[in-house]
Amino acid sequence: MLTGAGVSAESGLPTFRASDGLWEGHRVEDVCTPEAWERNPGLVWEFYSARRAAAERAEPNAGHRALAALERRLGDRLLLCTQNVDDLHEKAGSGADDPSRLVHMHGELFVSRCSADCGRPPFLDHALYPEFSRIARCACGALVRPHIVWFGEMPLGMDRIYEEIDQATVMLVVGTSGAVYPAANFVDWARRKGARTLYVGPEAPLNAGKFSEVVLGKAGETLPSYLGV
Ligand code: NAD
Ligand code: ZN
Repeated sequence: MLTGAGVSAESGLPTFRASDGLWEGHRVEDVCTPEAWERNPGLVWEFYSARRAAAERAEPNAGHRALAALERRLGDRLLLCTQNVDDLHEKAGSGADDPSRLVHMHGELFVSRCSADCGRPPFLDHALYPEFSRIARCACGALVRPHIVWFGEMPLGMDRIYEEIDQATVMLVVGTSGAVYPAANFVDWARRKGARTLYVGPEAPLNAGKFSEVVLGKAGETLPSYLGV
């Protein structure tokens, strides 16, 4: 399974292309790129601190819960790969029995790491850094940064994802516009391997033609009955 921002929309976390290319009033180039970090780390942390505060308040919806229920049924036969950085899949119970069944390919909102890659590992972090002077520092002295894959950076867990797609018989994609690569290509690889490819979301994604079936509907309203969980 591959999920995108749409699966969290009914939990009150806005998607980002839905409006006008802005994510919560910001151009993604200003807050979601390595260049933005170099230019203005204070603004980047102001943005991610607001995302942390919103995600902290958010509850998983029926879509998240249906995907967790499917995982309880399929066990290790299921991998949930999400482009979302929020923790609503975890809050719904995904990965509860085995955290390796959930891959956050674009990183995690509640994890931070050293911005100088000094070798210290990423760490759980629920703190807010709403201005530059309050940003925490790594033991090496560098600023800490969000453990988020920004545009132009390498997604996480790709070896594992390719391996799983190789073996997949069904790929279910939910709530992603098909505009962000490499995730938008997963459906091509799955098809090449002969998998059935299904999409669920309120509008057809950009790569709709690649799916065996497109089911138009909101994740929370559609998934429980569609998956029969
Ligand atoms: P996107 O914003 O580009 O597209 C959202 C998609 O969700 C659209 O296709 C839309 O039709 C669909 N959608 C809207 N409401 C829905 C609903 N109720 N049920 C199902 N689908 C619905 O999202 P993307 O393709 O995931 O790319 C966005 C990028 O921005 C990702 O890389 C992600 O990391 C990041 N992002 C993350 C979050 C989050 O973690 N919650 C939120 C916004 C953006
Ligand atoms: Zn460091």
